[in-house]
Formats: sequence, C-alpha cells, structure tokens
Amino acid sequence: MPSSPKPPPLHSTDVRQRRVALHARADRASRIATPSQVAYIRGRQKRWTEPELADLWTSAVQDTHNRGSGSNHLYVHVPFCKSICSFCNYDRLKPSTPHALKDWLTRVMASIQVLGPATEGLEFHSLYFGGGTPSVLPSRMLRTVFEALDQSFTWHPRASRSIELDPAVMNAAKAQSMMDHGFQRYSFGVQTLESSMNSAHNRGPQSEDTVRRCLDLLPASFLGSVAVDLLLGLDGGSPERTLRDVQRLLSHPRRPIIDLFHLTPTATYVEAHFGGSIDRAREELARYDDQFDTQLDALAKQYSYTIQRRESGHCRTLEPANVMERFQPMRWAMHVRQYGIDAWRVARRRMSGRPVHIPPLGLLSYNQIMTARTGPLNLLGLGPSARTQIFGRASVSTHPSAGGSGPTTYHGQSMTAVDELRRFVVFQIRDQKFVEDAQLADLFGQTLADALPEAVAVWAENGFARPTEGGWTFASLPPREMGLNLLWSIPETDLLYYIKRRMGGPSKRHPDPH
Ligand code: SF4
Repeated sequence: MPSSPKPPPLHSTDVRQRRVALHARADRASRIATPSQVAYIRGRQKRWTEPELADLWTSAVQDTHNRGSGSNHLYVHVPFCKSICSFCNYDRLKPSTPHALKDWLTRVMASIQVLGPATEGLEFHSLYFGGGTPSVLPSRMLRTVFEALDQSFTWHPRASRSIELDPAVMNAAKAQSMMDHGFQRYSFGVQTLESSMNSAHNRGPQSEDTVRRCLDLLPASFLGSVAVDLLLGLDGGSPERTLRDVQRLLSHPRRPIIDLFHLTPTATYVEAHFGGSIDRAREELARYDDQFDTQLDALAKQYSYTIQRRESGHCRTLEPANVMERFQPMRWAMHVRQYGIDAWRVARRRMSGRPVHIPPLGLLSYNQIMTARTGPLNLLGLGPSARTQIFGRASVSTHPSAGGSGPTTYHGQSMTAVDELRRFVVFQIRDQKFVEDAQLADLFGQTLADALPEAVAVWAENGFARPTEGGWTFASLPPREMGLNLLWSIPETDLLYYIKRRMGGPSKRHPDPH
C-alpha cells in the first residue's frame, strides 16, 4: 500500500491569481454546471486522414501496456431516423433516404477495410450500434456491416452486443439478422404508446400494437435484454397516461426493462408545443412528482419489478426483479471479465466503507466503463460524428458529419497518459469521491500529485481534497461547485483555447493539420 501523499508546495501567488481569473473567464465563456463538462475541455484540434489514424491504432496495439488488461469497445453511429422527432435534442441527425443510407454504408465499409487490419491483436469486448436509429437500415445492409465487423475485428468470446431501435421501422428480417450476429441487448425509443401523441411529435402513428409486435420479434428474456424508453413531460402527456403505458409494458410477457426519462425542452420544442413558454414546459415536467413515484412503486411491486432512480431524479429504471436476482453472480463475473474491473480492489473498498458503484449487467454507459476500468480503454468509432479514443494517442470524432462530402477524416486532440489520467480522475471524483494512487500508477504510470501538482495543492488547501490511506478523498459538493474546483486540473493552454472557441475564436470545423 503506498504511503499517504503530501500536498506539493504551493506555487507563487501571481500564478494562482492568473488561474483564478482564467477560471472566471472560462465560466463566463460557458457556464460550468457539471464535473463532466470539465472532463471534455480540450486543447487545440488536429486532423488525421484515415490511413494516419490506422497508423495510430497500429502503434497503440504494439504498445504492450495497451494490450494488457484493458477494455476495447467498438461503436457504430447511424445518424439517421425515419423522421426527426420534434423533441429530439441531437442536432446532427438526418431523415433517412435510400441515397443517404447507401452513402453511409460505403463510408463505413471503407473505414472497416482500413481500420480492421490496423487493430489486429486487439480483442474487442463490446459492440454498440447507436444513433439515430440503426433499425432504419434495411436487413441486407445490417447483415453486410455485421459480417464485415465479424471478419475484420477480433471479438472476445463473450463480447456484449447492443443496438438502438425504432419500433416503427423494425421487421422480422432485421430482428433475425441481429439475433444471427449475437446481439443480446435491444433498446427501443418508444416515448409513448399513444399514437396521436406520437403523430403530434413527428414520429408517425406508432401505437401500442406497433410496440407489441416488435417485442414479440425479439428473443426470450433469458437470451438477452430488451429496454424500452418512455419520455416524461411531452406535450399532451400526463402522469396518468404514463402510468397506463408503464402498466401495459409491465404486463407484456417479454418483461422489458423500462427507462423513464425527463424530456429536455429545447427552444424549438418549447416554441412549437408550449407557445414559447419554458415555464409551461417546466410545469408539465413538475407533474411527475412524489405522488407519481408512489404509484410507480406500487406498479413495480405488483409486477415484481425493482426501480432504480438516478441522483438527478431525471431517470427511473424499472427492471424485472427475478432477472436481476438470477444474474447477480453472473453480473459480477461479466464485469470482472469484460470490463477489467478489479474485484479485489472493489471488495477492499466495500470493506473500508467507501462507496462502490457496480452498474447492473447490460446498463454500462461509456462513462461508467470509463469510471470502472482498471486498464487502458480504447474506443473505435465508425460512422459520421462517432467518437474514437486511442489510449495515450488521440481522442477524435469522424468527419464529415451526416450527409457531408469529401474523404473521411478524424478531428480531435493528441492524448498523453496525463491527459487520459485527468479525464479519468474527473469521473472518479464525481462518482467515487476517492482517487486511489495505486490504481493511477497501474493505469497511467503516475500518481495524482505527480501528474497534477498544482491542482492537488489548491484542492488540499481549500478543503476539496484530503490525503487518506492510499490516495485522496474528495468532498461531496454540488455539481457546479465540483466542476469549478476541477478546472484546476485543466492545463492553462487548453483553458485559453476553450475560452477562445466559446467566445467565437477558431472554429472547430477547421482544425490544424498536424
Ligand atoms: S428517433 Fe430518437 S434519435 Fe431519432 S429523432 Fe427521434 S428522438 Fe431523435
């Protein structure tokens, strides 16, 4: 066990004052509201061609540290939907057309041909098809991509495979292609079972029957998981209607997981549905109150479901209780094996009373994987706007975005081990309030005080961090206050670039060629 770290000596007052002023400017340029916002403050952009990115992958794979106990994930982005819902807050989507889908397929297949051989020797632990809605692709195209992925990349024997679906564009042939290629996790954006409300939100007349037909197409629950998303706060909705939808889904023999999300009202949505009054939109959301939760609890109990609520209160997840119980030991084994979670480290933390969050099987988000990992993490993104992260090399997104022309290029930042450490530490502090030096040394070859001496000195002085056995314990602060403290971990050059960009400086669309 490493000895307790000591705060490094403080820097000069001038440097400190300059940083304080810089943080105030960064906050003015774009209000810091959450810790994760700070994790994504980045420095100057660079641009790589596809063959150049392949070279980065090759050098990363040859790095023995990268081949060790890390986890590798592949994400395929399908930025198309049958129509664009009026509440959608993702602005890079396009309505699907045969021409757009064909162009997408050509690009993705070309990327697979170049990047597949470059990652030879790397075993992938998960495949995620997201968007948009990948189910807009015809079954023939789905099979073409699935086969290319199977042939061009090496997969862990128990790699997880997940896909996002729109019930209105699902059919038996598509479901069969997914099952044939080992998909186990299916996520449906349903939003509401009321067809008139779906039509009013530009989603077509999706009804309860449409959703039931889709659920019937999927494999039995012991072969995979099906999650259904419902949206709270829609124009025309009500707690009573939502509870009715929930009950209909709970009674389906497929026993889907049900995620209830609060709608995030965009300016366009508020204008179109609430006469421009954000207060009316908020009043709609406020109706999902304690009384709603009491009734939801009663329904969950009646159908043997459990409910998990996120801290923000903006997401509730209902899971079949029997499935959770049955998979409890398997859930641990899968996490240990697939995501490189160090079971002994987790057990030690449990015994010492420190909080440990092990997410349920099948619900690992990218950020959760980032937080839980104990080895290098690589993410290979395919398709317009998909993110790629090559451990200790680069963090980029794919260009052009949906519908654009020109060769596929990758825009983003070079990454060092310290950059990786900074981002990892932000999520550790947010979720665990503890950073373990042995873990950082394993992962990044440095401790917190070695990598971020100035930040640690400030945090120790203002009481945000205190040295404890084997690492640093952090105070539990409101998200904004924590975010402002975490700004100390960002290099000055990156902060200056961030401020410039937010205040209308160099456009991210024109990164520097490296
Ligand atoms: S289906 Fe989903 S991703 Fe597509 S527009 Fe609607 S909300 Fe957005």
